[in-house]
Amino acid sequence: MTSPAALDALHATFGFSAFRGVQEDVVRRVLDGQSTLAVMPTGAGKSLTYQLPAVMMPGTCVVISPLIALMHDQLRSATANGIRAATLTSADADREQTIERFRAGDLDLLYVAPERASQGHFRELLSKARISLFAIDEAHCVSEWGHDFRPDYRLLRPLMDAFPQVPRLALTATADAHTRADILAQLGIAESGLIVAGFDRPNIRYAIRHREGGTRQIAQLMAEQPGPGIVYAPTRAKVEKLAEQLAAATGRPVLPYHAGLPAERRAANQSAFVASEDMVMVATVAFGMGIDKPDVRFVAHAGIPKSIEAYYQETGRAGRDGDPAQAVMFWAAGDFAQARQRLSEVEDTRREGEKTRLDALATLVETGACRRAILLRHFGESPPERCGNCDNCLDAPGIIDATVTAQKLLSAVYRTGQSFGFGHVEKVLTGVADDRVLQRGHDQLSVFGIVDAEEVPLLRPLVRALQARGSLLSTEHGGLALGGDARMILKGEGQVLIALPPRRERKGRRERGAGAAANPVGDALFDALRALRRDLAQDAGVPPYVIFHDSTLREMAALRPTSLRALGELGGVGARKLEAYGDAFLGVICQH
Ligand code: ADP
Ligand code: ZN
Repeated sequence: MTSPAALDALHATFGFSAFRGVQEDVVRRVLDGQSTLAVMPTGAGKSLTYQLPAVMMPGTCVVISPLIALMHDQLRSATANGIRAATLTSADADREQTIERFRAGDLDLLYVAPERASQGHFRELLSKARISLFAIDEAHCVSEWGHDFRPDYRLLRPLMDAFPQVPRLALTATADAHTRADILAQLGIAESGLIVAGFDRPNIRYAIRHREGGTRQIAQLMAEQPGPGIVYAPTRAKVEKLAEQLAAATGRPVLPYHAGLPAERRAANQSAFVASEDMVMVATVAFGMGIDKPDVRFVAHAGIPKSIEAYYQETGRAGRDGDPAQAVMFWAAGDFAQARQRLSEVEDTRREGEKTRLDALATLVETGACRRAILLRHFGESPPERCGNCDNCLDAPGIIDATVTAQKLLSAVYRTGQSFGFGHVEKVLTGVADDRVLQRGHDQLSVFGIVDAEEVPLLRPLVRALQARGSLLSTEHGGLALGGDARMILKGEGQVLIALPPRRERKGRRERGAGAAANPVGDALFDALRALRRDLAQDAGVPPYVIFHDSTLREMAALRPTSLRALGELGGVGARKLEAYGDAFLGVICQH
């Protein structure tokens, strides 16, 4: 049971009436002085688990965070909720003042980079103030197993050991069991202090589609989703081109982001995106880390991601605010063919692992089963068979045993010499004797005209599926060759199931507005509230979501509170925001 004091503080500071998921357990442990490692997916609300105790406990919570941008983001949100917070980084001009406030006990939160922790005078500074808690954000940086190892994180342990009475709270979204164990050991937290939240992101609707005119498909997604979105593209050149095409096709604000742009341009594009309510960022995977924008409504992949882990991390940037969001991947067989070709360039020691990752991704892409179930199982969970919020659950594809047709196809690839592309192989299989077929004598092969009319529509999806799983490879000149388990399939020792898209999509009809934004855009009051939020954000120099989240504006528009008291009851309206903005929002509500 959480203390009533914690619930009171939760409401007064953040305007929330209940904890989410494991937040309650984590906060209780921290308030009891127990060191804890909390593994929570993106959007689960990690920051609240140290910010709330920081407000409640005497002294200052020292937060270690790896990126200045992240710290400043947190600082903005915390300050907007009336929490006394500061950052101590090389980018801050007010360092002297911050140190004064810290020593005087005038701070609830002090954010610092790990580099500072190693400095002797920082330890000295800590010994002169009262510390309530050490919070270590992005704690996987302490582990060499994690994907972002930061050697400076290793210096935290000796620093914290000097203050044995202060509890530690490590936070990460990294699922890997190996990394978790390492974090516990490296930061000196007992195994019993591990709290793992489920990895499900139920508000994200997953869909994976074959790419057919990718720009048009993404433009259509943008038409369904008026809110902010991220489109991941594989190369810098594709990012630039796609950004231009999407801007022209949709008239929406669209910006590019990749490591090849000048640093100022990158920073400007990023802050424009963070502040926007309808912008789409087309980016390479260089974009995303350190961006806490809660109202991203969709993440699209214009090509396959690197692995399921990468896919989950990238799609996880959608819908942090808990409102409906979409993750849509557009893939082509060529993506897998290229990725498999690249495997040969990988060092021997890494090749097997890379291949396993690619195979797992191919399974996700090809499956006719629930996407979420596959993702969560990949992270060691035991989810229900169906989630009800992915493309395959909403519109079950037909699953067909296409083993016999696959044998015919593979056999034709083999007998034509493993050097022709799909077009030629298809002609041979369907018995079309054009010049090239005749010239090569392919009309004399046993596979000439071997598929019947019912099998013809299966050929293309089959080639895609076989390429994705590696049974068919691409030759240098664009031909098809046998690979992977092709021989087992030919010998009748392997099965080939393929998922055919539901009829509706094959007819090319417009898809239903999956997970369309919950915002009543067009409603006069809602739009006016948004306009006010935009003005206030501009005045304060912060993104609109720092003032209030969309969900809070929706509640205002629906419930039309007419007193400060009633306004304060809404989710996300804490005491500080009520005082700062209450009258302005009530004014707009009264006028409508
Ligand atoms: P994380 O760091 O885990 O990705 P954040 O700390 O950024 O997540 O929180 C994600 C969003 O969830 C934030 O917008 C926050 O305001 C909201 N949130 C956190 N806790 C609660 C809660 N108990 N009730 C409602 N909203 C919450
Ligand atoms: Zn599902």
